[in-house]
Amino acid sequence: MLAYTYLEHGKFELIEKPKPVILDDRDAIVKVTLASICSSDLHIKHGSVPRAAPGITVGHEMVGVVVETGSAVTSVRPGDRVTVNVETFCGECFFCQHGWVNNCTDQNGGWALGCRIDGGQAEYIRVPYADQGLDKIPDAVTDLQALLVGDVLATGYWAANISEITADDTVLIIGAGPTGLCTLQCVRLYHPKRIIICDIDENRLAFVQKHYPDVLTVTPENLQEYVCEHSEHGGADVVIEVAGSHDSFRMAWECARPNAIVTVVALYDGPQILPLPEMYGKNLTFKTGGVDGCCCKEILQLIADGKIDTVPLITHTVALKDIARGYELFEHKRDGVIKVAVTVN
Ligand SMILES: [Zn+2]
Ligand SMILES: [Zn+2]
Repeated sequence: MLAYTYLEHGKFELIEKPKPVILDDRDAIVKVTLASICSSDLHIKHGSVPRAAPGITVGHEMVGVVVETGSAVTSVRPGDRVTVNVETFCGECFFCQHGWVNNCTDQNGGWALGCRIDGGQAEYIRVPYADQGLDKIPDAVTDLQALLVGDVLATGYWAANISEITADDTVLIIGAGPTGLCTLQCVRLYHPKRIIICDIDENRLAFVQKHYPDVLTVTPENLQEYVCEHSEHGGADVVIEVAGSHDSFRMAWECARPNAIVTVVALYDGPQILPLPEMYGKNLTFKTGGVDGCCCKEILQLIADGKIDTVPLITHTVALKDIARGYELFEHKRDGVIKVAVTVN
């Protein structure tokens, strides 16, 4: 089968590999129908994910059809359309029992697919702990509608969920890339009084204005003044930092009102400064990433109910044989790209 593979630092290539087989009775084999490209794939390509193993198939955001299950798998059967969760988790350890699946203590716990074990930018993928890692896609939901459920949408859902949003809140989201836009949709489920989203890219803000006209958009210049003018208590009640740029962490806590929740979803390239003397008395609560991606079933139901729709985020589609072109578009943010779907058949 064809598999997009991390060969060495800076080099991915579409190569022929054997089709995966069941290695454990809790595994399932999924025939991939649609995959997507994520900025974490680029982090692997450029060597900023040291645990990524050369030779692995990349890709950790995909949907497909179950073709084979191990004898211990009970939740899915061959023929089921499924989303694949970015995180592998056993469901049984201390962390899994608390819903903190990102910290599953299994040797493959956390982000393994497309990083430490073969991922899904390929014709087939082996999914460990299939009862945890796969969720059936409701009949009313298409593969395209479900494509982002396992990774960026799971992240947005988790971020909104832990941010303690109330109906009186002004919520500031920093970053309007794919994860920021998924976060925006999930924040809307909590009906806060006001949502402000900040990004440096005017095209992304234009996308927000077109699809979510009730959301306020702003660029980083004078962000703090803008947030103060558009909130009641000297800053946002909740700040969700998704951008991960060199100064976005500082922007996040500066724009928060005293006693606010600041949720940090972003993954930074370098250390950030937490200037405790400067923020003394502001009494902030920080919550940090990464995602506990164990709510895919709930997210799929929200899509089926028409409450979340990420299809507009998928701006481009390429076939697996042309995946390098998809990467080129995505990496260089060409042609207004937000997300690229990769069709596999
Ligand atoms: Zn990702
Ligand atoms: Zn576990």
